[in-house]
Amino acid sequence: MIALKTPAEIAIMRENGRILAQILDKLCEKVRPGRTTQFFDNLAEMLIREAGAVPSFKGYSGYPASINASINEEVVHGIPSLERWLEEGDVFSIDIGLLRNGMHVDMATTVAVGNVDDIARQMMDVGERSLWEGIEQVKIGNRLSDISHAIGSCVEAAGFHVVKEYVGHGIGKALHEDPQIPNYGPPGHGMRLRPGMALAIEPMIKIDSLPTQVQADRWTVVTGSGGLSVHFEHTIVLTDDRAVVVTLGGDEKA
Ligand code: MG
Repeated sequence: MIALKTPAEIAIMRENGRILAQILDKLCEKVRPGRTTQFFDNLAEMLIREAGAVPSFKGYSGYPASINASINEEVVHGIPSLERWLEEGDVFSIDIGLLRNGMHVDMATTVAVGNVDDIARQMMDVGERSLWEGIEQVKIGNRLSDISHAIGSCVEAAGFHVVKEYVGHGIGKALHEDPQIPNYGPPGHGMRLRPGMALAIEPMIKIDSLPTQVQADRWTVVTGSGGLSVHFEHTIVLTDDRAVVVTLGGDEKA
């Protein structure tokens, strides 16, 4: 069932999205070799709580932290740790969500730790571009798989592969709501997009076409080959006349 959002709920999501984007910006500014992933989790939780919000991920199905901190071959759900350090040349994916005034917002980005190689740079560019190509399909009357198709074809055209085991999702009073939004597939399928829908669109892309694996901690998802992976996500709401990317900071407008 799709929970359509009221104008009041959309207004809250827009405020929450702006707050979350500013927090993620602050985390990204602190990325440098030698910092632990725990450092980012501590800072994230402090900033989320200072904003009068609650970390969406903490306690979700027993997840122990406020962010996912995933390095290199880790696709998503990396658990922050005092024993994981960022190193020069890593790609570092931070996924973060908050709950405030009853509504969740969710976003992710991948950043370079110092200088990264050309492939890593290219994957980050393609990952971000595929997210925006998906977002462009969020229009009243389009179908859900138009988003999936736009993302998948962008990634494949660049010679990378989308992760198929994990998907984007509806979002609102719950962190994960219907519908699921795969990052691949033919266009023109699934439900029609309509005002009041709120979607977290999140391409996860990787260098190999092998299935992903879950590590012994039962959370961390890694690529099948050990090759690189990147992850980008925004929360988008569809109003009566346009799609609004709520997880943008400052004065940026979609
Ligand atoms: Mg998400």
